[in-house]
Amino acid sequence: MTAHHAVLDTFCKGVWINNKSADAADGRTFDIENPANGEPLCRVADAGETEAMQALDAAVAAQAAWAATSPRLRSDILRRGFDLLTARTEELAQLITLEMGKSVAESRGEVAYSADFLRWFSEEAVRIRGDYTANPTGPGRIALIRQPVGPCLLITPWNVPLAMAARKVGPALAAGCTTVLKPAEQTPLTALLFAEIMQEAGLPAGVLNVVPTSRPEVVATPLLADPRLRKVSFTGSTEVGRLLIRASADNVLRTSMELGGNAPFIVCADADVDAAVAGAMVAKMRNVGEACIAANRFYVHEAVVDEFSEKLVARLERLSVGDGSTPGTDVGPLIDGEQRDKVVALVADAVDHGAEVVLGGAPPEGAGYYYPPTVLRGVSPNCRMNSEEIFGPVAPLTTFTDDEEALRLANDTEYGLVSYVFTSDYGRALWFAERLEAGMVGLNRGFISNAAAPFGGIKQSGLGREGGDVGIDEYLEVKYVAMGPE
Ligand code: NAD
Repeated sequence: MTAHHAVLDTFCKGVWINNKSADAADGRTFDIENPANGEPLCRVADAGETEAMQALDAAVAAQAAWAATSPRLRSDILRRGFDLLTARTEELAQLITLEMGKSVAESRGEVAYSADFLRWFSEEAVRIRGDYTANPTGPGRIALIRQPVGPCLLITPWNVPLAMAARKVGPALAAGCTTVLKPAEQTPLTALLFAEIMQEAGLPAGVLNVVPTSRPEVVATPLLADPRLRKVSFTGSTEVGRLLIRASADNVLRTSMELGGNAPFIVCADADVDAAVAGAMVAKMRNVGEACIAANRFYVHEAVVDEFSEKLVARLERLSVGDGSTPGTDVGPLIDGEQRDKVVALVADAVDHGAEVVLGGAPPEGAGYYYPPTVLRGVSPNCRMNSEEIFGPVAPLTTFTDDEEALRLANDTEYGLVSYVFTSDYGRALWFAERLEAGMVGLNRGFISNAAAPFGGIKQSGLGREGGDVGIDEYLEVKYVAMGPE
């Protein structure tokens, strides 16, 4: 018999349209699985084209009235969203852990991070600026106003299901856009509870609609083809991002793309090794390593590699691996069997290329998709994990001898999301920060997430930024008004 989880009884499992839950028209549902043991948690309505269009109809119908609300009203709703998410931290954290796997302690952190986006954008909603300047060549004035883009499709991944939703819904709502949120098929439950909480916060019908589905393409394709949709904001793999950019071409949609990463983590000879290990624990182990900003390649100066490796192993050895819902667990399961198989294959490939396993390296027997914290040394730059996201708790160490070599290795990737550098030399820190090809750089720190900072990548890690003072611009059009008289 499968376990009963009380938190699953607190919200509806239908498609969420116009602030109401409904079954799919054809009655289809799909199972959500607990990665801790592979058991089904519950069934959820499986949206298809009909529900996708109903959701867009609702968003389109609500758009004009929502855009016309006062910034203060939108701000107050978002602020109440922050208060409610914070007050319901335990419930949301349990739910995130049940469907995604990470420990409840980590899920609490995700709830706080998510709430912070609602608070930040409640503060930004009332600061949408215009401009009014003299015409340099003579009479007339140049006025600028910023207006909402219009109905948006928001597509989110499974690894941080609440935070990725809040990071898109927050700025969209603040700007005056209505939304259709399509959560990942592995983790739609958090998105459904989030939508109910936003209704409680005062969100009018049609402004936030949620279409859970096991068939993302079936839902996304008709939406992207409908000229009433004006924007798609996506977080997920670069591969799917490319498909969505292509599909956005016909209607020339605005796009925001938060795509894959392949973060280098550089430890220089002059680094404070204890600080670098502490940073690595966050940059590598947060979210069981299933993060786009996870350290994917460690480049450690040959003078400190023994000390770094020993201290990292000592910290990782102390972590307990298990069901994320069990108090005291540090490392929960990976999301599913496919992801665990990928990690197994990447480690096998690194070993084939000469890497030495100094910790972990093999998944345990039994139910659930566990993989232990793993450290590899002597990892060849030619192996797969140097060019692919690991998305698991595996730290591959490669040595370097000078800064130019470390920089070249770090930048040798099509990705450019984040890079980490540890050094006690201020000049060296700036030298790296200016030359690393990444949208974000962590200097002597492994934790960079911050609602007040612009998150995003360059190269094939994406387009646009989420959070910070530029985050709301992704949902605003700039209109220029040429003012007479001539
Ligand atoms: P994914 O690309 O497989 O899925 C992401 C979302 O896209 C899901 O909602 C999925 O249902 C949807 N999707 C899949 N195929 C689609 C299609 N044909 N049309 C429309 N939607 C489709 O990625 P994932 O495995 O869920 O997430 C992991 C990836 O997300 C990693 O590459 C990670 O780096 C990336 N990620 C990036 C950021 C960032 O901010 N840059 C943050 C978190 C995760």
